[in-house]
Amino acid sequence: SGKSSLLGVSFANISLEEALQQLESAMNGNRSVNLFFVNSHCLNVSYRNINYRQALEQADLVFPDGSGVAMGCQRKGEQLQHNLNGTDLFPQLCALAARMGRSVFFLGAKPGIAAQVADWARAEYPGLKVAGTQDGYFSEEEEPEVIAGINRSNADILLVGMGVPVQELWLNRVQPQLKTSLNLAVGGLFDYYSG
Ligand code: UDP
Repeated sequence: SGKSSLLGVSFANISLEEALQQLESAMNGNRSVNLFFVNSHCLNVSYRNINYRQALEQADLVFPDGSGVAMGCQRKGEQLQHNLNGTDLFPQLCALAARMGRSVFFLGAKPGIAAQVADWARAEYPGLKVAGTQDGYFSEEEEPEVIAGINRSNADILLVGMGVPVQELWLNRVQPQLKTSLNLAVGGLFDYYSG
């Protein structure tokens, strides 16, 4: 069926090719798709945090991240087809976005970090359009302007790196306001790619 579940959280059990196809069709669609990643830590958090669990349930796509999830599946007698973590998918997403002419907005991490990741991505993937960047330390009062900024940028893809479960709760809540076609919650990815 292409799905597995652990601790009541269901996620895609698909090949890398299928995962990339799902990203591509989201980018070709006309609604805002939320994609979240779950590792074993996320599963533990979701067990105790009902709001996070609901955000995962309401997500359009949930991809399995890490060997802990693969081992959990194995213990149930299931084989996880592919470890679809954000860190590994990010380069492929950039390549896909560049090829499809789609633009990316980087939201999250400390001031300056998202811009560094954007510079790295632009250099690594010629033709990749960066719609904008914004740090992940804005107040509740500033939130409407952050959302308006993303929408004004005409970004197709939104990467949100504000940590689990803040980023998933945030994307789940603001999804109806976003004009992007694909939103990914990417955790500490920006710190990783900023050098
Ligand atoms: N972060 C943020 N806003 C916040 C809190 C955290 O943008 O209010 C960022 C933080 O700077 C870091 C990321 O969120 O880049 C969280 O990274 P971490 O590795 O702790 O998260 P995980 O990958 O475990 O979700």
